[in-house]
Amino acid sequence: PRDRCYRGRFAPSPTGPLHFGSLIAAVGSFADARAAGGVWLVRMDDLDRTREVPGTADAILRALERFGLHWDQSVCYQSRRTDRYAAALEQLRRQGLTYPCGCSRREIAAAGRAGPEGPIYPGTCRNGLPRNRQARAERLRVSDTPIALEDQIHGLVQQCLAADVGDFVLRRADGIHAYQLAVVVDDAEQRISHVVRGADLMLSTPRQVYLQQLLGLPRPAYAHLPLALDAHGRKLSKSLAAAPVDPADPVPALLRAWRFLGQPSLPEWPGSAAQFWQLAVPRWCLARVPRQPALPAASAR
Ligand code: GLU
Repeated sequence: PRDRCYRGRFAPSPTGPLHFGSLIAAVGSFADARAAGGVWLVRMDDLDRTREVPGTADAILRALERFGLHWDQSVCYQSRRTDRYAAALEQLRRQGLTYPCGCSRREIAAAGRAGPEGPIYPGTCRNGLPRNRQARAERLRVSDTPIALEDQIHGLVQQCLAADVGDFVLRRADGIHAYQLAVVVDDAEQRISHVVRGADLMLSTPRQVYLQQLLGLPRPAYAHLPLALDAHGRKLSKSLAAAPVDPADPVPALLRAWRFLGQPSLPEWPGSAAQFWQLAVPRWCLARVPRQPALPAASAR
């Protein structure tokens, strides 16, 4: 099936070199896009310059090339798109949907109920900043209406933002626009039709769907890939200094990612990343991707 309208993307954060967890997201999103005959884009999630490790964005891009993960069009850098995020925020502000918040993280942790995504904002500043308070962040009013979406791997995902998340931040106290806002603006502007990414972002998706509704933006299809765990059952993540994958020897890591994603074995051992993709793309099957997080196999065979 060739889907000319398929547009996928991979959106790494340049906080560390490409590791096995991010390779899985890259491989899954790339394979799904190429198997559909679609476009695959790379977007650098570099809004938070304080978390950025210098040189990492380029290192990630070079690694993607070595893994044969060749993107279409030029790489989008979120750090250069602040005006777009500001415009979307202004659109929400004009609808009366945002408000300034003067609470510190510590105050929210102390006053907010625990939710699946951290403490739920207790609504302290919802009806106006309390006296003697400075505005810090800017928040979005959420609603009681549950958000429901169909994930291509997990099926129905439902969340009530008011009960599970609370009014969430769109612009942080340091002036940086929140990931939730930026990702929605960018996915829409890049006309992303399919978001294939790690399951750690599954509980972000209802917030993104809500923002799409408020901003009048289309909703892409979502597929959340299983997370790779370390030996202690924790998510492999580059901020925890997970071992980077070796771009100089791409085939074993590609095969491990392929296996991790439940995909069928290939008829021969590929001699190069390019050959891996020649063999792999026609065999990609999203329906085989497991739902459960797992420990990756130690070897590629
Ligand atoms: N930059 C995010 C991450 O590395 C992914 C964002 C997304 O795919 O929406 O976890």
